[in-house]
Amino acid sequence: MEKWPIGVFTSIDAGLGVKIEVAHELGVPTIQLHAPEKETRTPENAEKFLAQLQELGITLTAVFGGFEGESYADIPTVVDTVGLVPPATRSDRVQEMKEIADFARLLNCDVVALHLGFIPHDNSDPLYQEIVAVTQDLLDHCKANNQALHLETGQETAEGLLQFISDVGRDNLFVNFDPANMILYGTGEPIEALQKVGAFVKSIHCKDGTWSDQPGETWGAEVPLGEGDVGMENYLRTLDELGYTGPLTIEREIPQEPERQKAEISHAVNLLTDLKAKIG
Ligand code: MG
Repeated sequence: MEKWPIGVFTSIDAGLGVKIEVAHELGVPTIQLHAPEKETRTPENAEKFLAQLQELGITLTAVFGGFEGESYADIPTVVDTVGLVPPATRSDRVQEMKEIADFARLLNCDVVALHLGFIPHDNSDPLYQEIVAVTQDLLDHCKANNQALHLETGQETAEGLLQFISDVGRDNLFVNFDPANMILYGTGEPIEALQKVGAFVKSIHCKDGTWSDQPGETWGAEVPLGEGDVGMENYLRTLDELGYTGPLTIEREIPQEPERQKAEISHAVNLLTDLKAKIG
């Protein structure tokens, strides 16, 4: 694969992300895919989807897990509803995540990813140990599929994430770095965080955002790429210094406005193409 192929976050029938057809119309050569609904995750559909990707000349680089009942309405709701952290849904979701990994394997995809949820910051908290154990279990399942698991960033600081990766102690755990999430959740300056976790960064999102006036309490705002506080040129230069050559996957989550979403992604493709020419 060429260095820094542009990508876009897509979905079929569940989760956020644009349709595959939009990726094709915009001439984007790679996608990450939000896992489709359980009923859709059949071997027949996997075959059809693979044929579609081949016809469009698009490479699938990661499958993201997501679960019914998750809500990103505000930060406290994320704490209560997202990922494998909430105890009431944990065992069902781990099972479902394993099924998603198996579906990704049918798509010949060796990367699965997710938001784990808000891991407690205090690693002596019993909940922390439970999340370590559940992540190890999931990683062992992925390993048997020859897959790596990438954690989406944002809900932990860089230090918290490094501690967690070390405590989990598996060689197939990596990071999907999302610079905007660091800003939206108020968990740290994204470029500094990227430098700290750089050794584990195997996929990334190109997303932008602005800081909240109460970081960590209320959301910052997600904005079109290049208009927020990330600093895209500095972001790509830092990725270059770290030796990252993987896809630049654009994520823009305004599904309620599909036309604007497509226009902004198109603009993001142009911005990244220019920066690639300048830096890459
Ligand atoms: Mg993201």
